[in-house]
Amino acid sequence: MRRRDFVRSAGSAVVLGALPACATPPPAESSFTLWSWVHGNRDRDAAEWRRLFARLREAGFQAVLVGGGDIELVSGAARAEGLEYHRWFWTLNRNGDARVQEDHPEWFTVSRNLESSLEHPPYVGYYRWVCPSRAPVREYLRGRIAELAANPAVDGVHLDYVRHCDVILPRGLWERYDLVQDVEHPEFDFCYCEVCREQFAALDGRDPVEIADPTADEAWRRFRWDSVTGAVRELADAAHENGKPITAAVFPTPSIARRLVRQDWDRWPLDRFFSMLYQGFYLEDIPWIGDGVREGVAALRDRGDATPLNAGLYLPSLDPPALGEAVATARRAGASGVSTFEMDGLTDEHLAALRDAVS
Ligand SMILES: [Zn+2]
Repeated sequence: MRRRDFVRSAGSAVVLGALPACATPPPAESSFTLWSWVHGNRDRDAAEWRRLFARLREAGFQAVLVGGGDIELVSGAARAEGLEYHRWFWTLNRNGDARVQEDHPEWFTVSRNLESSLEHPPYVGYYRWVCPSRAPVREYLRGRIAELAANPAVDGVHLDYVRHCDVILPRGLWERYDLVQDVEHPEFDFCYCEVCREQFAALDGRDPVEIADPTADEAWRRFRWDSVTGAVRELADAAHENGKPITAAVFPTPSIARRLVRQDWDRWPLDRFFSMLYQGFYLEDIPWIGDGVREGVAALRDRGDATPLNAGLYLPSLDPPALGEAVATARRAGASGVSTFEMDGLTDEHLAALRDAVS
């Protein structure tokens, strides 16, 4: 499915891609869409899923981004209640992938201390990442995405963890891990695997482990952005070849994403972006959500299209009045919608606040 068709099928009357970038108006009322991330690996039968999705639909939601669980069961329930079902996929973080960990330990990223994220996951035990520079990694992920996109029960593929390990954590998490990250520390700086070192040397002539101050080296930084972006391009092809849209959860703004996680997302050929504007993680407030939306929308507009951007909102940091304010702020800033993390955190009061904010 082409992006324009996807926008139409998402219930929009506005064909955003058909307008020249300079003339793009703020999203029309009908194009503001409500999505939610959903943990699908819950012990629920079809009737229970239908009840939960009917509740979302009544509050004005259009689509769910579902991770885990049975695709046919949960998709069937979502569609029966008029919601699109997008499959949420952990991309470069392959902690849950025992097959890859056993068969291909060499695929995992390596820190500046030359330790594998498989053997020495940074910060938390589930931080095990594969290297996007490696052709077999791309081929493997491409196959997984093609398989999901080819499934008739799947309306779209949603990428998450499309990045390197956080070289710098969001400011609000430093205390949790007892860290001061005013510089890039080597144990959190990836990827110095043999393939990355060889590819960078072929381009630049230097071995990255011999760069005196790799944290200040523009070419080395850009190599890692481009490595992730190259993998995303292949995954986008795999989804589009199977007629499905592909979206991603990304860090809050292009500049924060590049600095913290080597994610150059405003160059990715995706059909919709979900920027995780989780203000509590950054010790910020609701106006920061609006600033982040403006930066993301401007970056997408600058590249010459108007790919929609939905603001990702983190419910544990938003009581119902704050959620209403966050949605209104994102909308005024030019967002094409929001997505809430995650469905089980939506109280009746949250849903009422959402309805008021979009009515
Ligand atoms: Zn590597």
